Amino acid sequence: MTVMSPVARRLLKRKEFKKYIKKCIRGDIEWKDKKLSPMKSALRIILRKEQNETCVYCQRLITIERRNTQEDIEHYLDKSKPHYRKYTFSPINLVLSCHTCNFVKSTKDIGGPTLRGGGYVSLQSRDFRWPHPYIDDIEKCIVKLRGPVYEIVPGSGKEVESENMIEDLRLNDIANIESREAYLKSRNFKIMDIVSDFVSSNNNSVRLRTKRLIEESRAIQKEIY
Ligand SMILES: [Zn+2]
Repeated sequence: MTVMSPVARRLLKRKEFKKYIKKCIRGDIEWKDKKLSPMKSALRIILRKEQNETCVYCQRLITIERRNTQEDIEHYLDKSKPHYRKYTFSPINLVLSCHTCNFVKSTKDIGGPTLRGGGYVSLQSRDFRWPHPYIDDIEKCIVKLRGPVYEIVPGSGKEVESENMIEDLRLNDIANIESREAYLKSRNFKIMDIVSDFVSSNNNSVRLRTKRLIEESRAIQKEIY
């Protein structure tokens, strides 16, 4: 992901969403207001696809079963900070992250001094504590090895920022790695169970679900084995 998505940009300009977006920017409604739900659901679908069903920070698969509880529309620059409020609906600031990364990141300020002082983000901005998902392409800055274990990519030009991100998000934290692995293994066993029940079905929707589960299982195996 090296460019902002035109699809996401168009979505945020849709008439039926715009009036609530304006209300939210004015402070009349909150980000969590139900009126913004249709916009958020549509945005999730777009981001999921663009991010290949993975979290933008830890690059891990967001499993189908946990989608709604395990993925969050994430504001790279934290919208609760007054100096970043203007980026609440900016496509350059919106990504999809897993719940763990969002929780660990919390309200950490990822902007540097210029942005904190009210400066504007542009594609040329270099004023961030971490690599930026759209400006830098995180996968070219941090490599996820099996485990997963994270390492900085030498020569990316973002070594310091990558190190900050690995540390701030505790990506190499043993507890984090072990609980993830345990979850994926049990999820994989569960998929095998469901699929073996489905395998002889002639029903089309069951076959489609089986196909999706098998794809998920392949992605899990790629991550942990
Ligand atoms: Zn994550």
